Amino acid sequence: VLKRLAVRKNPQRTNIKWSILGTHYVVRALSISWKLCVVHPSTWLKADDTGLYCEPGEFYIDPMNEVVTALVTHGHADHARAGHHSVYASAETLAIMKTRYGDEMATHQHAITLGKSVTFNDVAVTFFPAGHILGSTQILIEYSGYRVVVSGDYKRRHDPTCPPFEVVPCDVLITEATFGLPVFKHPPIEHEIGKLLLSLRVFPERCHLVGAYALGKCQRVILALREAGYEKPIYLHGAQ
Ligand SMILES: [Zn+2]
Repeated sequence: VLKRLAVRKNPQRTNIKWSILGTHYVVRALSISWKLCVVHPSTWLKADDTGLYCEPGEFYIDPMNEVVTALVTHGHADHARAGHHSVYASAETLAIMKTRYGDEMATHQHAITLGKSVTFNDVAVTFFPAGHILGSTQILIEYSGYRVVVSGDYKRRHDPTCPPFEVVPCDVLITEATFGLPVFKHPPIEHEIGKLLLSLRVFPERCHLVGAYALGKCQRVILALREAGYEKPIYLHGAQ
């Protein structure tokens, strides 16, 4: 009735009004249907005793127990464990896992390509460099209109032992922060290496021991010494 009355009063103007109103409803309908399609990551990414589980993709990231499908960010033992049915990780991480756990560390071992997506059901997964240790990656999960990045351990400082950290745009970032508190202020590695080299010059007759974690830190210190021009032999303790 309103439309008919309006048309009688001013037909041209009414047409414009209706088309604007129509567009408005179409836009609203589209936005409501989009929201209905999109499912928040908290409903399909779950943390349990084993680790972080992606329900629609049916995989775990860095699981601590044996699972069917494991995506592993890097080779440190608090992220990479043996005994899974299928493991997806960078070739370097798989090599580290084999060195630590043996060639049979998983039934199926899949080396991913950085930046290239792999699909698990309706879930797309892409690995990106994390700059933490050799082979370390962040994992981008794309599902239901959301982009979730699981950083694993990462570092943004210079480290010649691995490709640098890449910023990956996302809606949700799941991150680790071992040294995330402001109380941790690590000096630049060049300063520390400079102090070590000075000590070597002042006390050339003395043995200098450097304590460093075996996987990652150790190789980084060796390369930092080489970058600073130290060319003499560096010996590793047997425990390495
Ligand atoms: Zn680590």
